Amino acid sequence: MKHFDVIVIGGGHAGAEAAAAAARMGAATALLTMSRASIGVMSCNPAIGGLGKGHLVREIDAMDGVMARAADEAGIQFRLLNRRKGPAVQGPRTQADRKLYRLAIQGFMAGQENLTIIEGEAVDLQMQGKRVVGVDMADGICLRGKAVILTSGTFLNGIIHIGDISKSGGRMDDAPSIRLADRLASLDLGRGRLKTGTPPRLDGKTIDWSVLTMQPGDENPVVFSFLNTAPKARQISCGITQTNEKTHSIVRDNLEKSAMYGGHIEGVGPRYCPSIEDKVVRFAEKNEHQVFLEPEGLDDDTIYPNGISTSLPEAVQEDYVHSMLGLERAKILQPGYAIEYDFFDPRGLSAALEVKAVPGLFFAGQINGTTGYEEAAAQGLVAGINASLLAQGREFHFFSRSESYIGVMVDDLITRGVTEPYRMFTSRAEFRLTLRADNADQRLTPAAITLGCVSESRRKAFTRKGEHIARGRSALEAKTFTPNAIRALGIKISQDGVRRSAFGLLSFPDAPLEVIAAQCPEFSVLGADIKHQIWCDALYAQYTQRQLDDVDALKRDEGHAIPIEFEYHDLPGLSSELKSKLIKARPENLAQAGKMEGMTPAALTLILARLKRETKKKVV
Ligand code: FAD
Repeated sequence: MKHFDVIVIGGGHAGAEAAAAAARMGAATALLTMSRASIGVMSCNPAIGGLGKGHLVREIDAMDGVMARAADEAGIQFRLLNRRKGPAVQGPRTQADRKLYRLAIQGFMAGQENLTIIEGEAVDLQMQGKRVVGVDMADGICLRGKAVILTSGTFLNGIIHIGDISKSGGRMDDAPSIRLADRLASLDLGRGRLKTGTPPRLDGKTIDWSVLTMQPGDENPVVFSFLNTAPKARQISCGITQTNEKTHSIVRDNLEKSAMYGGHIEGVGPRYCPSIEDKVVRFAEKNEHQVFLEPEGLDDDTIYPNGISTSLPEAVQEDYVHSMLGLERAKILQPGYAIEYDFFDPRGLSAALEVKAVPGLFFAGQINGTTGYEEAAAQGLVAGINASLLAQGREFHFFSRSESYIGVMVDDLITRGVTEPYRMFTSRAEFRLTLRADNADQRLTPAAITLGCVSESRRKAFTRKGEHIARGRSALEAKTFTPNAIRALGIKISQDGVRRSAFGLLSFPDAPLEVIAAQCPEFSVLGADIKHQIWCDALYAQYTQRQLDDVDALKRDEGHAIPIEFEYHDLPGLSSELKSKLIKARPENLAQAGKMEGMTPAALTLILARLKRETKKKVV
């Protein structure tokens, strides 16, 4: 019997991040996975980041996680999405060389102190009363642990569907996890089925690239990790083609042969990542959809056609692929397929991602009803940190909605649950103007340092950056201008007699950074990244202040009594989950309401606003 503080089951995106976080925190950690070689495998699209997802990757990096650094090692086409919009909604994204990504993650795992990798299948949980105390493996080996994190992805009772052919599998060419799924079923935790799908993979040598539009990456790539400044790998372009009327009619004519539409799948799929069948049915008015042809690697001819995932039979896949420009002779290397798997209702978890009914057991990743590598990795980080805190007898660390997208996701999951695979969007965060990808380190690294999950080199780099930001900001705040002086700089401003600081001026849309920098030598000598960070901070400073004011006002108003007859049901903006929780709990004051699971600052503000309105009415 081997003893560990933390045992992580699964070496996917949640598992790798959980194991690395627990080990960084000083916990003796085991990463138990079916195959060592598949640690860090990207099951579907070869890309990391995007809108909302890129924010999660930056936050993981701010806590010294591995995903951002691996993406920087493997990135072959970096694009900052929404570049023309404000920094708050910009999302870093990269296409990744699958092999380089996997090798980078495996390299981080191999080099991580306190981490032992064990190859094998977890088949049972050892229990002491209700508490989990270890894991049994299929080969008879038992591992003891103070905490166990389960990150089994799509493997629990996984069934792969291609047309009317169904077979057991965790993903293509991987065995499913059946015995562990049966064991978990016996725990009565609220289990459901979800599904996801992947497109056929094409042989790039058989695509006619000469007729396709090519899309290069950004000229000035924005990478993920706060420790990196440029991509490591050679950058490439991807091709773009479109579906057309012929493609759609092939799909439409064969709909009943699709596993999904033929009634072979009971699980719900990701609404925001629809299959080609879904697109043809749900968006029937559209006569074309873009398909990005993404190379899977620098020394790999495999192409991932992004946008045509499917569970149609292989022959139909061939027909509709061949109907598209440039793909007339494309060879399918691996057919697309759908996969159905067990997930557990995340409302059974605490904000530490510990299963409430089974102390010591944590769930992270796709098992909690999410979809996507980034969502999985972020949960792995939360579970890894908290499992090691539990093992060390320390208090849990919670991520709040007002400080991180990680907090938004965890809160959404544990309070609202899921009815379809959950993915992150910037619109899910009520404080998105302050939860930006650019300032993730400023928001989260201080707590990570206190927790002890940050390397010495990152701590030093962060401290140095903080000093530079503080120096640049105070230089900008000290330099002030009269309205006349501002006009002389070419910046349009009302002649209101108010002196403005250089920092304040940066939030004006027509105040170029270079013009302001030229007026402030102490600022202008700083590095481009520091100047950019201060510019972003200046741009949103008034919103940051408003948010802090909202939080402060809430604190002041915490004692505000809530009458027993308070009408929650018709309060606009309050989620129905919160409404029913509040109606059930009937908190006596705002402080009590604030402590309720799932309560958000925005929801408290809504309640407070109505309370104030009603008090005013009574006074009048
Ligand atoms: P995974 O990456 O699946 O990792 C699970 C790990 O657990 C594996 O290492 C496995 O070996 C291990 N494991 C499982 N059971 C055991 C056991 N009993 N013992 C030991 N080890 C075990 N995401 C999107 O965002 N968009 C998509 O379009 C999309 N399509 C997908 C299509 C397919 C066909 C698949 C398979 C996945 C798709 N995904 C998609 C999901 C994406 O792959 C996952 O969200 C992500 O990989 C989840 O990470 P995870 O760590 O939770 O699980």
